[in-house]
Amino acid sequence: SVRDGLGAYIAKPETYGPDVVVYHNEDFVAIHDMFPKSSLHLLLLPRDQTKTRIHPFDAFEDAEFLAKVKAETRTLRKLAAGELRRKYGKDSAQEQARQAALSADPPPNELPQGRDWEEDIVVGVHAVPSMNHLHVHVLSVDRYSERLKHRKHYNSFSTPFFVPIEDFPLAEDDVRRYPTEEGYLKRDFTCWRCGRGFGNRFAELKQHLEQEFKEWKKL
Ligand code: 5GP
Ligand code: ZN
Repeated sequence: SVRDGLGAYIAKPETYGPDVVVYHNEDFVAIHDMFPKSSLHLLLLPRDQTKTRIHPFDAFEDAEFLAKVKAETRTLRKLAAGELRRKYGKDSAQEQARQAALSADPPPNELPQGRDWEEDIVVGVHAVPSMNHLHVHVLSVDRYSERLKHRKHYNSFSTPFFVPIEDFPLAEDDVRRYPTEEGYLKRDFTCWRCGRGFGNRFAELKQHLEQEFKEWKKL
């Protein structure tokens, strides 16, 4: 089934090029999402055979396993932040200020801080995954991608349907354990950056996301 499509990466990561598999080790495979919903969208696949077929909410009940996954997502978040810096760093206002200070004569005693791109990466799982193998999304916050084509694509990353890895372990009575899937995915659109509402006007949201993307990367 197409829902088993992530299994091949876990089984034979070494058969893929670096454009597909970012890295792999004994316990994890990090890949590029084939249908990215942001300008950078990676997936972390744990290889533990006892966990890979289990719903993330259940798999993360194992404290030792959760700690391991969290540690690996910190590594991947750093890597992703480095990728954003390479892609957009030269455009960013902070980086330009830093470069200007560096080339000043004489240079100032204290250089302006560079931008912390790790703050622009979100990490988490979907309450109702569509793919069977356990995976954690690691993506830039922009939600800017031509693959973001459907309402549910936006809302699955922009409502409580998306559960940040930092929120695990979930409390027993956490409402996100019992997702009214339809409810979250059919919600009115809210811009991730400015909070503006777009009702159910998807085309308008998409245009706005492009504007926000341009400003976000230059911040
Ligand atoms: P889910 O909704 O299950 O949390 O997300 C599954 C993710 O896997 C989606 O973002 C989707 O784009 C991605 N995906 C689906 N099939 C494939 C595939 O064959 N290869 C890769 N690399 N990603 C896939
Ligand atoms: Zn906005």
